Amino acid sequence: MDKKTAPFDVDKIRADFPMLSAKVNGKPLVYLDNAATTHKPLAVIERVRRFESEQYATVRRGSYALGERATEMFEEARKKTADFLNAGDPRQIIFTSGATQSLNLVAHSFGKSLKAGDEIIISNMEHHANTVPWQILRDELGVVLRVIPVGDDGVLSMEGYAKLLGPKTRLVSVTAASNVLGTVNPVKEIVRMAHSAGAKILVDGAQSVPHVRTDVKDWDCDFLAFSGHKIYAPTGVGVLFGKYEILDSMPPYVTGGDMINTVTLERTTFAKPPQRFEAGTPAASQVIGFGAAIDYVNSVGMDKMAAYEQTLLDYGTRVLGGVKGLRIIGNAPHKAAIISFWLEAAHPHDVVTILDDLGISMRGGHHCAQPVMQRFGVPATTRASFSFYNKTSEIDFLAEGLQKVIEVFG
Ligand code: PLP
Repeated sequence: MDKKTAPFDVDKIRADFPMLSAKVNGKPLVYLDNAATTHKPLAVIERVRRFESEQYATVRRGSYALGERATEMFEEARKKTADFLNAGDPRQIIFTSGATQSLNLVAHSFGKSLKAGDEIIISNMEHHANTVPWQILRDELGVVLRVIPVGDDGVLSMEGYAKLLGPKTRLVSVTAASNVLGTVNPVKEIVRMAHSAGAKILVDGAQSVPHVRTDVKDWDCDFLAFSGHKIYAPTGVGVLFGKYEILDSMPPYVTGGDMINTVTLERTTFAKPPQRFEAGTPAASQVIGFGAAIDYVNSVGMDKMAAYEQTLLDYGTRVLGGVKGLRIIGNAPHKAAIISFWLEAAHPHDVVTILDDLGISMRGGHHCAQPVMQRFGVPATTRASFSFYNKTSEIDFLAEGLQKVIEVFG
């Protein structure tokens, strides 16, 4: 029986992740910061080890056997990514260093087609990576940045969005799932509305691609950005999906080796996508490790992972909701497995320090999303974010840890 058809056995899954048996402050690690980054299964670690110790060479340069084989493996990862997203043509997959670079690529390349007075729409729940690049464009080009409001429950206002869309809207750039509120946005409808206004749409999939099946054909989005390290792959690799004809109309962003057709001292002609956007020696080990992460996720089964993570979310919402003085921030009916909260007794930085003493790794802060903190009137939140390798017993342990925080500060 492969992992896909077997019943979901979280202890068996955990055995695939060496870091999960680590000790922190002398205590067994309880890792609840999966929205920040995820641990790596042995299959990924081993794949990178094998590439680096038995197969390593630079890609797309060496016409010797090792270089050609490394290039094939790199391109296999591109094909796996395209299949994983149901993107069709692998030329629509650009490898970047992460979601941040993918978003910046669109801002600085597609963004060059914009002019003063054009409008870009983002939302009030974006990560800084999907806010700052657009503010820079606004300041450089005079484009107008509009922001979709978010309700008290953490739900994106679709009426607010409809009001912002207009003939000047050129791009909508919104997250599929909020890294603070957990809110899962109705991407398909957001895309449909953007297109009917004649705008292009970029989806930030950093918190969604690792947790629910993604189908870019079904969404019909023009761009999708996400990071490998949040989906069990190494750091230093991310993806920008873009519809080929749009990518082909865009100028290069980073320039240099490997993104050209010809260079003379007078002028340069550029390669077609994806190479046009992959200047310099690529992160071959990371990309090949990323391909192994996709294989791993596929072997477990994305739908199974997603269903299990929803049970963790439901359990966590119930258990944490019962902790005295704890207010969950983000109560959308459709959420990713992320629970942000404000605890009356202590500041999030103090909360996570005490939890850390108990072996619980969790983030307290603004989560690189200060505008959403401002929206909810808090300087920071404490955030528990789950992966399919977490257990309900870890949530119980977290609740006990919060009782300790209350005893110390309360
Ligand atoms: N977008 C969202 C919604 C995120 O949560 C993050 C990271 O937390 C990013 C973008 C940026 O990802 P990275 O730092 O991997 O580039």
